[in-house]
Amino acid sequence: MFIVHSFCGVAMTDILRGSPVAEGIDSFLRSRIAGKGITLVAVVSTDDPSMMSYLRSKTKKASSLGISFREIHLPEDIDTDGFISCIEKLNADPEVSSIIVEEPVPRGVDFSYIRGVISPLKDVDCVSYDNLGRLFSGSPRFVPATVLAVLKILDYYRIPVSGREVLVVGRSLTVGKPLASMLSIRGGDLGDATVTLAHSKSRNLNILLSRADVVISAVGKPHLVTGEHIKEGSVVIDVGTNYVDGRLTGDVDTESVVGKASAVTPVPGGVGVVTSSAIFLNAYYSYCLLSGGSDGFRAEDKPF
Ligand code: NAP
Repeated sequence: MFIVHSFCGVAMTDILRGSPVAEGIDSFLRSRIAGKGITLVAVVSTDDPSMMSYLRSKTKKASSLGISFREIHLPEDIDTDGFISCIEKLNADPEVSSIIVEEPVPRGVDFSYIRGVISPLKDVDCVSYDNLGRLFSGSPRFVPATVLAVLKILDYYRIPVSGREVLVVGRSLTVGKPLASMLSIRGGDLGDATVTLAHSKSRNLNILLSRADVVISAVGKPHLVTGEHIKEGSVVIDVGTNYVDGRLTGDVDTESVVGKASAVTPVPGGVGVVTSSAIFLNAYYSYCLLSGGSDGFRAEDKPF
């Protein structure tokens, strides 16, 4: 994967599509969850049209997988206490196996309290301090869905990172930071990387880009990563989602990267597609954890 293919002197770049990766996850889930009462609840506090469309696609996916997906809509003027009391009810509800808080939360809600309250066993997007602490200590219980999606793509396309220079751009707790931590975990093809974590204050991003074997951009800025600056033969994973003139685009200027990178994920059709499946993979795992292994849980059910 780290060798640039060349045809008539022009380097060839593999397009790492998300659909085969997602299909693999979906068929694994279908084989496992039949007849099991898995219920994922999304706590939503915005009626933004893009959120509504995102929830519709989640509902469709859940129904195709046989998972029950419920939405709880909270008012935009809810405060931290009100939000906490909703989460506590879901924590205590034996019918609910997984909880996801759809961000952004309202201005009056301090998300750091939610991180402290959400049940770690139901916390399928790994927002709790308990799960983040485990992840950063090298013993993850859950991995955020987007991070899991990137790992699944690297695994499916057999892109080892062990011993390689990986540049993660973006340091959010949702994507960049846990991803950087996962890739530097000891052992395995998807660990042992030499990871650089860049952010808005990083100087000389272009120099960092020029020496990375694998670049993963999770920023939300179109054309942040261009072919001019990446290393020949590198792998470029584009997590970013941006709308430019109504069109979905990533952080990577794909056109300029093709011909120089050995592989790149497209937007749309790359990481996002896999993330939609990864959240349900985590939901299945939370169900396994809550049933204490009594319901046919096997070691391979751990998503990573
Ligand atoms: P976020 O919380 O806004 O974090 C963005 C990060 O990018 C921050 O760490 C910020 O640095 C950094 N940054 C901003 N400008 C930069 C620059 N010029 N150079 C280098 N770093 C810069 O965003 P997020 O939630 O992590 O999401 C990142 C992107 O991924 C967004 O486009 C989002 O829509 C997308 N996303 C996609 C999926 C998917 O499934 N495809 C899932 C989740 C998110 P500071 O920390 O210094 O501010």
